[in-house]
Formats: sequence, structure tokens, C-alpha cells
Amino acid sequence: MKSNKLSKSLSSIVGSVTAEVFAESKKLQRMGKNVINLAIGQPDFLPLDEVLEATANFVMDGKVQYTESKGIFDLRKSIVDYYQVDASPETEVVVTAGGKLGIFGAVWSVCNPGDNVIVLDPSWVSYGSIIKSFGCIPKYLEVGKDFTFDEDDLRNLIDDRTKALIVNSPCNPTGQIISEKKLASLYNLCAENEILLISDEIYNEYVFGNKPFFSLTKINNWKDYGVAINGFSKTFSMTGFRVGYAISNELITNEINKVMQLTASCATNFAQHAAVVALKNIGKMRVRIQEIMKPRLDRLIELDGELLGFDLLRPQGAMYGWFKLHDVQDTAKWAKELLKEKLVAVTPGIGFGPHGEGWFRISYATKLENLEDGLQRISDFVNKKN
Ligand code: PMP
Repeated sequence: MKSNKLSKSLSSIVGSVTAEVFAESKKLQRMGKNVINLAIGQPDFLPLDEVLEATANFVMDGKVQYTESKGIFDLRKSIVDYYQVDASPETEVVVTAGGKLGIFGAVWSVCNPGDNVIVLDPSWVSYGSIIKSFGCIPKYLEVGKDFTFDEDDLRNLIDDRTKALIVNSPCNPTGQIISEKKLASLYNLCAENEILLISDEIYNEYVFGNKPFFSLTKINNWKDYGVAINGFSKTFSMTGFRVGYAISNELITNEINKVMQLTASCATNFAQHAAVVALKNIGKMRVRIQEIMKPRLDRLIELDGELLGFDLLRPQGAMYGWFKLHDVQDTAKWAKELLKEKLVAVTPGIGFGPHGEGWFRISYATKLENLEDGLQRISDFVNKKN
């Protein structure tokens, strides 16, 4: 078959630079090279023992069949309790097979081919691709430190085919947290224009500074034009369990439930039960996240001062350091050279949107010695020492 016979929307999605760097680093590892991977956005620690043991028991108990497409009631109820949100577990929560499918569902629920969705720039690699996969167009709104954006720029981007806006706080890749005021102003603009605000809150437990996380679900009337997306991948280090969720009004959750019926059928049965156990142990997990991740972030900030001295946007949350490079026009090329010469994998900023060019992202969800060694190598590369 010829490639022009493929779906235009799917084939418009080309392999990301992130995937390229990842594949290359794996290849080098297979060749026995000592590669330090600072590109992976996944916690490097295991879920709680309580969760692992319960999972094994749920499997042995035979919790291995389909569940209701919107998820088991116990989990939906536990999510509402955890979120402390005024939402009905019966009709306003849907469990998805990972947060990513929740984002797909939210976009799918409001978009027709040719529509557009506003994405804050920089932001997570996959938003643009998800939007394009529906034959829709991502429109990028440049956002600075602390989510500063120009309201007129945003108003100018909105047209009658704008169906949604995606915000992610704490942000992958910048580590910034949106304030209540800015989130409310985004929400009000969305409501005014009758577009859906998709709030990806997947890193809500990865908050390390004084600035608190603020959820969309705390904004007045948020359910009218808002959907909150979250999951167990980051909070409980359960990436492979594939359990996420969306909370919104019944109209939207119904559509997302249809997406679940059409795709995964349901999130994995025993993984949903394990997720209930995980939420019961959120206190322990919060301690673990702070104990493991906070010293890494502190060290990252120290090392930036000692070794690199580039502009690290001071992270407030998530698990990433977002660095500005000076005098580098093509960061994808730069990242490939860095990998080849110094065997450190980082993610070039261009993958996160047009305004990500000139930046790179590292994940500090890795052991301190990797972080130290990796940053030393980056520093050597930048300073061209050998
Ligand atoms: N949103 C963001 C910003 C992410 O970084 C990720 C994972 N990298 C996800 C959503 C998806 O997470 P999952 O599907 O594993 O729940």
C-alpha cells in the first residue's frame, strides 16, 4: 500500500524528536554504552507495597474481567473523595485507561474535523498530536514563566472553530504551577466563548515549593465548561497499570464513557481495584514523593548554579527541569550531538511546541548520582571540555 492511502490525520503525526532521542539512547544502551537517561518522564520508584500486594491478591481473586466502561463504582467514589469535589460518582466521573485516554476523550467529546484546540506553548508533546489525530488543528498560545500570557493574544486565537483549551499544571515541561487567578481567567474566557477547558492535573501531587497546586475543580461553576483529567501513573508511580480519570458534567463524561466503550472497553479490572487501595494510602505516597523527589530538585537547582549556570526556570512542581540554552538555534540537533558525544539523553524543547525551541528538558525522576553525572556531562558538553 502507498502512504497516500493512509489517513491524512494520522499520517500527519510524525515521530517526535522525543521518540527519536529515546530510540537512539536505547540503541546505545544495547551496544553496552553507559547512557544516562534524563529524558524519561516516569517516577523511578515502585508503587507502595500495599498496592503491589493488593494487586497480586486481586489477580488471584479473579478480578480480571471487564468492568463497567466508566469504571468500578468504588473507584469513582474514592476519586470524588480524594478530589474533595462536588461531583456525582454515578454520572460525573469516568475512569479511563490512563490519563492520556481521558485527554483523548475530552478532545473527542467536543471536536469535529477542522476544528481547533488551543494549547499553551510550551506544553506536553502529546497534546498537539492528539488534536491532529482527529483532523483538528492545535493553536499555540505562548506562555511565559508562572503561566503569564497575553489575554489579547488568547482572544485573538479564539474563533468559531475553537472547541477547547488545554492547560497542564504543574506543567510538563516547565514545572510551573498556574495560580488561582490565572486559571480562573482562562476558565472565564473559555466559558465566555463556550469552549471546554481541559485541565490536565496529572502532576498535582508533585509540588515542591511554596506555591500550592490549584485545581480547576475549585473554580466557581467549573463543571459548566471544564473537565479535570488525572490518573495514577505519576501520583502512585503506577504508569503500567493504565488507570486515569476525568471529572466533569454529565454531558462530557457521557461522551468520554463512549470513548472508553469504543476503545479500551474499560480500564483493567484489577488495576482499578488496586487504584482504590492506592487512594487509601495517599498520605504515605505523599511522604514518599517528597522524600525522594524534593532532594533531587534541590540538588538540581544547586548543580545548575555550580555547573551549568544556564537559565533553569525554577521548577515549582512536576518532575522536570526546563533549561534555556544560549546561542543554540536547533535544540533537536544539539540533543542528538549531546547524546552521541556525552551519552546523556535529554528532551529537546521543540518537541513541546514552537516556543520550546532553544530550551531542553531533563527529568529529575532519577537517582541523585545519575542526575549529578548527567548534569556534569551536559556542562562539559556545553563548555566543550573533555
Ligand atoms: N499528561 C501529561 C502532562 C503527562 O506528562 C503524561 C505522561 N507522560 C500524561 C498526561 C499521561 O499519563 P498516563 O496516560 O500515564 O496517565
